Amino acid sequence: MGLGRPKHSLHLNPEYWYSLGIKVGREYISATVFNSKFEILEKNSIKITKNDMGNENVSKLIDQILSKVHHKDKIKSIGIAFSGNVNNNVVNSYILKLENFSLERVIKKHFKDIDFTALNDVEAIATEEFVNHEGVRILVINYGTGIGACYLNSIDFASKNHKKILELGHFYAGGNETCYCGSIGCLETLASDYAALKKYKFRNLKITDFIENEEDYETDLAELRKLYEYSNKKAEIIYQDIFVYLTAAIINIYKILTPKKVILTGEGVTPWFSQNLQKKILSITKDPIPIIYRGLENNIELGAAITSLQNHIINNKF
Ligand SMILES: [Zn+2]
Repeated sequence: MGLGRPKHSLHLNPEYWYSLGIKVGREYISATVFNSKFEILEKNSIKITKNDMGNENVSKLIDQILSKVHHKDKIKSIGIAFSGNVNNNVVNSYILKLENFSLERVIKKHFKDIDFTALNDVEAIATEEFVNHEGVRILVINYGTGIGACYLNSIDFASKNHKKILELGHFYAGGNETCYCGSIGCLETLASDYAALKKYKFRNLKITDFIENEEDYETDLAELRKLYEYSNKKAEIIYQDIFVYLTAAIINIYKILTPKKVILTGEGVTPWFSQNLQKKILSITKDPIPIIYRGLENNIELGAAITSLQNHIINNKF
């Protein structure tokens, strides 16, 4: 396949290339079937709770959602995006309690011989961003209860190594709180939704307890994310330090990777959040850091499906 927009090379045979994109997140597992134009043919979702974590339970959920999928004979590749670290299709995720989780068995149960790709969810967002909006060097920051990032260099789009996951949430930022990853002072302890929630209502909350019981805070999180609509002043106070930490992280990454655009996405990002973070960045650096707000526009399942199809093409040397 050629360089540039991959759309053209992926649209070889409209009816032939069905693909399946699955997102395994902390709140939902969703599966979407796409045709070769990446139009949605079918979508299924299952709500998950803290009792659904762990290798065995997540495997059952994937089995359950795959049972619902039609068009199985037409699906050529499967992409599965996880909140977690993925290496050679093996997943480790503190949030989902996955340890060296392999998908081979559950996928084989439903599809005899199929290419599948497990990937990180921010990686899927970066792919979707590139395919739908283009760009040369793209830095995607996914902000919410966790903070993830992925850098995509589209010059290399035809190779498997054009994306780099940055564990932004676990960059050292200071303070003395032990993070769920085991390190002290991770950015997530100081600048994620958790940090804002702590300042907003739960002074003594620990990040490990928060991650474990995230659904107990759903209402408070929703309230917090809309706070700026009712009290700009209050929101400014709560997010003041958070913007400083995020600004430091973004400026540092910018100086290393010089992305042409920085995409802000995720459940914790609002237009207010994006504007205020940009204002903070502009007040500090002379670097022309181009920030684009996407909110929840980016479709993780689509990004996962595209990535899997791309790998399928590379693997089979079409
Ligand atoms: Zn950490």
